[in-house]
Amino acid sequence: MSKHYPRNLKIDKMVKALRMARFFGDKTYQLKEPCNKGHLSPRSVASGLCLECAREQMTNDRHMAQPAMDEMERWKAANG
Ligand SMILES: [Zn+2]
Repeated sequence: MSKHYPRNLKIDKMVKALRMARFFGDKTYQLKEPCNKGHLSPRSVASGLCLECAREQMTNDRHMAQPAMDEMERWKAANG
């Protein structure tokens, strides 16, 4: 899909969007280009993952997601 894209230009745009998001203190940033799975959803500043991909990963891969969820529950119980 992206073979006609100048790769460096795309990365440069991503880096710029990421810096903007960090500057404004956002947790996510939005690009005009879809992610490599074709989602047009905001991306996490922390991981660079598009939120739709992250959500898919969470639902598809419970082995990976569950420890993180457990950790979050423990944190909430301890701090909340
Ligand atoms: Zn995605």
